[in-house]
Amino acid sequence: MTQDLAALAKEKGIRYFMISYTDLFGAQRAKLVPAAAIADMQRDGAGFAGFATWLDMTPAHPDLFAVPDASAVVQLPWRRDVAWVAADCVMEDKHVTQAPRIVLKNAMANAAKEGLYIRTGVEAEFFLIDADGTQISDAKDNAAKPCYDQQALMRRYDVIAEICDYMLELGWGPYQNDHEDANGQFEMNWNFDDSLVTADRHSFFKFMVKSVAEKHGLRATFMPKPFPGLTGSGCHAHISVWDKDGKTNMFYDADDEMGLSAQGYNFLGGIMKHAEALAAITNPTVNSYKRINAPRTVSGATWSPNTVTWTGNNRTHMVRVPGKGRFELRLPDGAANPYLLQAVIIAAGLSGIHSKADPGKRYDIDMYQLGHTVKGAPKLPLNLLDALRAFDKDKALKAALGEDFSAAYLKLKHQEWNSYAGHFTQWERENTLDV
Ligand code: ADP
Ligand code: MG
Ligand code: MG
Ligand code: MG
Ligand code: MG
Repeated sequence: MTQDLAALAKEKGIRYFMISYTDLFGAQRAKLVPAAAIADMQRDGAGFAGFATWLDMTPAHPDLFAVPDASAVVQLPWRRDVAWVAADCVMEDKHVTQAPRIVLKNAMANAAKEGLYIRTGVEAEFFLIDADGTQISDAKDNAAKPCYDQQALMRRYDVIAEICDYMLELGWGPYQNDHEDANGQFEMNWNFDDSLVTADRHSFFKFMVKSVAEKHGLRATFMPKPFPGLTGSGCHAHISVWDKDGKTNMFYDADDEMGLSAQGYNFLGGIMKHAEALAAITNPTVNSYKRINAPRTVSGATWSPNTVTWTGNNRTHMVRVPGKGRFELRLPDGAANPYLLQAVIIAAGLSGIHSKADPGKRYDIDMYQLGHTVKGAPKLPLNLLDALRAFDKDKALKAALGEDFSAAYLKLKHQEWNSYAGHFTQWERENTLDV
């Protein structure tokens, strides 16, 4: 049942709605609409100039309308007179096929046609840094192995508990918060759900963490590798696939050694097969490639993969099977677009099911120590350009995500790469001046 936003405003004392959509680079774009105008906006959407955001449009395109999905409305727990609502992009009465939330909805519809309903949980790690963005905000947080540091966690209690309280209030089922493996780094976990619910929550989580951090005079960043030498921010995704009623886990087979069904192995096979290409989406920035393929960090391990391998309950590989009936993709990072992350998992997994993809050999080794003994497993892309080229070559994945989306994404991301490559660096000067 579609909720009436004007009625909701009256009931909850909401004065303004943020009608928000996410563009191809993961930026959230919003209009702030007074409750008095929300009834019309709920029907027609809020108008935007698409070219002004990352959607691969020209200034000549007609109006882009962001039509709120009233089932995805969240009253801001830290500012109760405002509500955020995720919106779908529409132009001339048609869905904008490259808009990330639409890309995800289409991927989910493809899966549903085959009776498959994907459920995921994400672990969106972040750093709390100084407001100017240059350093960790807590000078005392300097242990070489800072993971689960009790003292450092409690010095940030006001921020972490406030966010966790809000997740409790919103009914997300948060269940733990910790200091992570880098100085200044934290993780907060809530329960998995349908891909779209998780993507909307993931988006809102990023907005909420940044907002609450700012309220406390700090800054939160999900940048994949904000500090060289320290562990980067991942965004692991845990994945299982269910029937329509959400009662039967289609990935679960009690008799299998890993607790995975044949379909589960094929889905995993799809992730493995498309890994080098899907990195262009799960690891979408120049900086992403300083997290994967990284040299050992101060803490002793990067906790991120460099090779396309899978394993059981072992955190040194790209995919871990931590328990029966699900697996964890450890590749994505904090820069991953919440919608495209979910979409590409579904697209790759379905492709694996269709082609009965074999995930290949399971490696039960410490990949950080013994990676050199693995022969034949592809290396993950070394930089964004390699990833974009791998994505461009992967016709099946591009088709599964939609040709409009894939072309738009590749075009804008190549532009971004070119902007980076054209940037003169101090390194060049230091290493080239005397040639
Ligand atoms: P990790 O051991 O990788 O650090 P966390 O507890 O931090 O694990 O995060 C696990 C995530 O996986 C949570 O979001 C959790 O809800 C989710 N999860 C657990 N079981 C499943 C499942 N069957 N399918 C999808 N996600 C799951
Ligand atoms: Mg105007
Ligand atoms: Mg975790
Ligand atoms: Mg973690
Ligand atoms: Mg994890």
